[in-house]
Amino acid sequence: AKRLLLDGVSKRYGNVLALDALTLAVEPGELVSLLGPSGCGKTTTLRLIAGFEFPDAGSVRIGGNDVSALPPNKRGLGMVFQNYSLFPHLTVGENIGFGLRMAGVKRGDIAVQVKRMLDLIRLPGYCDRRIEQLSGGQQQRVALARAIVNDPSVLLLDEPLGALDKNLREGMQFEIRRMQQDLGITSVMVTHDQEEAMTMSDRVVVISHGRILQSGAPREVYDRP
Ligand code: ADP
Ligand code: ADP
Repeated sequence: AKRLLLDGVSKRYGNVLALDALTLAVEPGELVSLLGPSGCGKTTTLRLIAGFEFPDAGSVRIGGNDVSALPPNKRGLGMVFQNYSLFPHLTVGENIGFGLRMAGVKRGDIAVQVKRMLDLIRLPGYCDRRIEQLSGGQQQRVALARAIVNDPSVLLLDEPLGALDKNLREGMQFEIRRMQQDLGITSVMVTHDQEEAMTMSDRVVVISHGRILQSGAPREVYDRP
């Protein structure tokens, strides 16, 4: 697992200062949740870590390397978004192995990795099912498997359970947390749900106007008067 560091990161869109010299270190294997009102800069933070955009000032470092110096496929990132973004016409196995295939990994090796992931997400035997035959929770587990199959250094979770109903969300909170801890992946999650942040995170970071307002263990942040 690697350390993630946002070091004095600023990002401006026109007149809006989306991030204002934000400094945040996420320790190896730690899961940090970003909370805060709409427009405070959570999504911008994820986009800068992902390297979709670059900071106007400061740097984003993974294991000491500046992400802007690396091509996207060398950044060691896994991502899960609310809308899954799975390929509906491909099978479960093809979805999970997609990135490995693009990277030129051999067929047999892909099959081994896909099987390892199907066991991890507790969907053994689902390799040849089509995505549209799966429930929402199952699809989200496949999205998670696809994000972690290449052993990313950093996992980004953007409202990962936002599309699921409440009963399913609670089960999936524990599932994601279990896998994240088993694999020890340094992770950053954006959520609007305080309960979710409480259940899943090592640390909660509250952002306001592109700056960190509070940072602490879930209990420290929520029990404060
Ligand atoms: P959320 O509030 O759920 O975090 P937003 O709706 O604020 O998400 O943003 C969704 C996407 O739209 C993000 O990629 C963000 O960068 C982009 N975005 C947000 N505000 C603007 C804007 N004023 N103009 C253009 N794009 C925006
Ligand atoms: P959050 O995810 O916390 O809702 P965002 O990071 O999406 O917040 O947005 C932070 C601020 O930056 C907001 O004021 C938003 O409108 C603005 N913003 C984000 N992306 C863009 C964009 N692509 N173009 C213009 N403004 C943007």
